[in-house]
Amino acid sequence: MAQMIINGERVGATSGATMEVRNPATGDVVDTVPRADASDTQRAIQAAADAFASWSKLAAHKRAHILMQATACVRAKLEDVAALLTSEQGKPIRDSRIEAERFADNIEIYAGLIAGGALSGRHVPLPSQKAMGLVVRRPIGVVGAIIPWNFPLTLMANKIAPAMAVGNTVVVKPASTTPLATLRLAELMLEGGLPPGVLNVVTGPGGVVGEELIRHPLVRKIGFTGETGTGKQVARSAAEELKHVTLELGGSDAAIVCDDADLDLAAKNVAIGRFFNAGQACLAIKRVYVFEGVADEFIDKVAARAKRLKLGSGTDTSAQMGPLHTDKQRAEIESQLADAVERGGRVVAGGLRPSGSQFDKGYFFEPTVVVDVPEGARVWTEETFGPLLPIMRVHDLDEALEKANSSEFGLGSSIFTRDMGKAQRAIDELEAGYTWVNAVQIAHDELPFGGTKHSGYGKEHGTEVLDYYTEQKSVVIASG
Ligand code: NAD
Repeated sequence: MAQMIINGERVGATSGATMEVRNPATGDVVDTVPRADASDTQRAIQAAADAFASWSKLAAHKRAHILMQATACVRAKLEDVAALLTSEQGKPIRDSRIEAERFADNIEIYAGLIAGGALSGRHVPLPSQKAMGLVVRRPIGVVGAIIPWNFPLTLMANKIAPAMAVGNTVVVKPASTTPLATLRLAELMLEGGLPPGVLNVVTGPGGVVGEELIRHPLVRKIGFTGETGTGKQVARSAAEELKHVTLELGGSDAAIVCDDADLDLAAKNVAIGRFFNAGQACLAIKRVYVFEGVADEFIDKVAARAKRLKLGSGTDTSAQMGPLHTDKQRAEIESQLADAVERGGRVVAGGLRPSGSQFDKGYFFEPTVVVDVPEGARVWTEETFGPLLPIMRVHDLDEALEKANSSEFGLGSSIFTRDMGKAQRAIDELEAGYTWVNAVQIAHDELPFGGTKHSGYGKEHGTEVLDYYTEQKSVVIASG
């Protein structure tokens, strides 16, 4: 049985309770983990608070050195971590390798930035000749990192890498269905020399462990990624203690395909943007608005790509798309598709559970493209968190922008065009935290990422994230 990591030790829940972790491709139990309660969570928070005193006072280059060494230990076992991730999450093994590697990259990036002095403040001239002003930045304290199941490792790294680099200590709460690779990474970082208490991992239900993290007065910052509904609950609970909160929430990213676009490129990038991770990505193309004149050709190209994708268990090295993560997740996609079809939508690729004994036990669903779905259908108004792509025909850019912005979400967005004028309008007018122009929809570590509207607030990635894991203090020094 896997164990939690609290104060540098592998521990179970005080109550002895456990939870099963199942493989989405087979339904088999992979392992069990402790089912923590509020008291276990409090122990982890106290351990993080105790470790903060010394970790935050270490010279930045020493913290960076420790983080680099701990990451070297992770790098030596990336293959094990990737295999665990595939067994609990379902994604193809090559995607798990990429994700495990990005975890290590991320810790190194922030360790490197901090060693290079990225956490500098500034000098501010004051009107008085006899005083000088400074702005200094300090770590916040204990950070609670609450993580979803779709990219458990990268979404954890986005929080713990900048948090630990600037001197905070962390308690991670992974999703109940994906705790195993997370626990393994924390163990490896401890083996690599990370001091006890700096990184703790508590496994258990969101409403218990997550709520305790949010309500506990010693936790000063919550980094949360998950559904918009849960995010609103997090914001409400965190308000009681006036905590710093970053909310990375749901999305329904629109892609606009103009009549002057390179349609092969657009079809390729839309298919990747929709079907990567079986469509279970926050930043994913979830709606397409294509200009009427090129719509048929574009739809044919995307449908052909959807039909070509090879489904399989994550351990099948030739599989390009794995199962959905849970039965519930698949049922949700099926019901959103049924709603689209009832309203007149036409399925041009996929639409079914794949047949074959290898798919019987897993939560597989074919990559699906649906057209002629009227406005108001659930695929336009809700987040579709699976391999389901609705495409709508539009007359011009005005209509495309208006429809793209009609969503309550504002996470990512894309435009495909050769006309820089159209691209510029999209950059200026699309209500989203990211706009890709003719580019594949991938979040880059170097660029700040975060949503607007109901997709949340705060930034991860880039140097901007450092502002969200530090507090600024103004200082006036009188010289005489
Ligand atoms: P979720 O909201 O159900 O769960 C996320 C985490 O919150 C889990 O660890 C869960 O246990 C915990 N949680 C649940 N209830 C809680 C509570 N009351 N208090 C504290 N924590 C609680 O989300 P999910 O289904 O795991 O993930 C999918 C969602 O995440 C999608 O909506 C997706 O768009 C979103 N997401 C957003 C981003 C982003 O960066 N914006 C990235 C990935 C996923």
